[in-house]
Amino acid sequence: MKTDAGITAIKGMRDLLPEDTAWFERLEGHAREIFALYNFDEIRTPVLEPAELFARAVGEETDIVGKEMYTFADRDGAMLTLRPEATASAVRAYIEHRLWERPGLTRLFYQGPMFRRERPQKGRYRQFYQIGAEVLGGDAPWIDFELLAMLRMLLERCGIEGAELVLNSVGCANDRPRYHAALREALAPRLPQMCADYQRRAQTNPLRVLDCKVPADQPIIAALPSILDYLDDRCREHFAELRRLLDGAGISYRLDPRMVRGLDYYTSTAFEFLHGALGAQNALLGGGRYDGLAQSLGAPANVGGGIGFALGEDRFVMAMQAAAGGTGQPPGPRALVVPITAAQLPPALALAERLRRGGVRVEMAPPDRKIGRSLELAAKLGAEAALLLGADEVREQRVTWKRLASGEQEKLDETALAARLGAGRSA
Ligand code: AMP
Repeated sequence: MKTDAGITAIKGMRDLLPEDTAWFERLEGHAREIFALYNFDEIRTPVLEPAELFARAVGEETDIVGKEMYTFADRDGAMLTLRPEATASAVRAYIEHRLWERPGLTRLFYQGPMFRRERPQKGRYRQFYQIGAEVLGGDAPWIDFELLAMLRMLLERCGIEGAELVLNSVGCANDRPRYHAALREALAPRLPQMCADYQRRAQTNPLRVLDCKVPADQPIIAALPSILDYLDDRCREHFAELRRLLDGAGISYRLDPRMVRGLDYYTSTAFEFLHGALGAQNALLGGGRYDGLAQSLGAPANVGGGIGFALGEDRFVMAMQAAAGGTGQPPGPRALVVPITAAQLPPALALAERLRRGGVRVEMAPPDRKIGRSLELAAKLGAEAALLLGADEVREQRVTWKRLASGEQEKLDETALAARLGAGRSA
């Protein structure tokens, strides 16, 4: 393939190098373990979806759909979108494959890249990575509680301390009209002072006005009526029960009646976890309940509600790194196998293979080099030992094990070597 040496990655999209992916994998490993404990199974949906899916699910008036999606016409004219989030896809798949006919709740998790054409900055990218989960087929408050308890466990497992849970209830279709009317009324005298986008939104979707980040508009937002005063009996009781369960389990949170999240599908419970180590992009994760989303995408009326969350892996690993004091070296090999000359290359390759089968991560040094150069390489790779294989060692069926830190060395047979390298344990 002909390439130009000047080609770089697209703005806002970055390469995750081994020192980055080591952290992503650590996070993904913890998440998978915890998802399994809570009985979640993985779903993998396509990164391309019909553009209409997000327009319908996320909402035309949101920043995501209005300004940030990568949407293009396919060769046959079909409008396609690179997914900006995965809840819409998970719910589409839930309906398309009639997962709601399976017994019990459907618990799905996913992980992968999402795409939003936002202004790039630290912690905000145009291709970013999310891990998320959805519980579909029920709307009881204990389901919301379990999801939040699971997130607490994940934060603990990742060593992240000091994340703050922010909680709200954004009501449902039943109480929205009254709240919208109250918002419109409160906003009417202030509208001329607000930015053009929000003047329009005040008419089309007043809840979205609460998303406004323009500093000058904040005093206006702060004085708007609270959604918590407009919840219908069912939403109020749902929220009260969730709060009782959280209080009972000692899960603390801050109530924020202005927090509405940037997607239209949310109903009742909405939450975010914020973290101080992240600077301006301080949302580690967010989520909420979306009863009625399945119906808006074509599910029959008897299909139950749903709740989910998505965490930003890019930000989560920043918090993990901060918690670990910024140390983030990828693991590296346990040992470097060094054939002294080309004649020892085949037995050295065979030794490396056997060690790997025993679970030890090893790297090979090229043969016919000065031993000093190979030892330097081993140290730079972070290996604990070099395994030297010369003509004598091959004849004696032994290996010279050399500890790099101390320089001490010893000829070992392979059983003793394997024991020293901890073969059989994880590499
Ligand atoms: P959302 O899908 O908007 O509810 O966002 C859920 C989480 O994804 C946020 O709390 C962030 O951690 C993360 N996130 C959203 N947008 C971006 C982005 N452009 N870059 C990095 N992380 C993001």
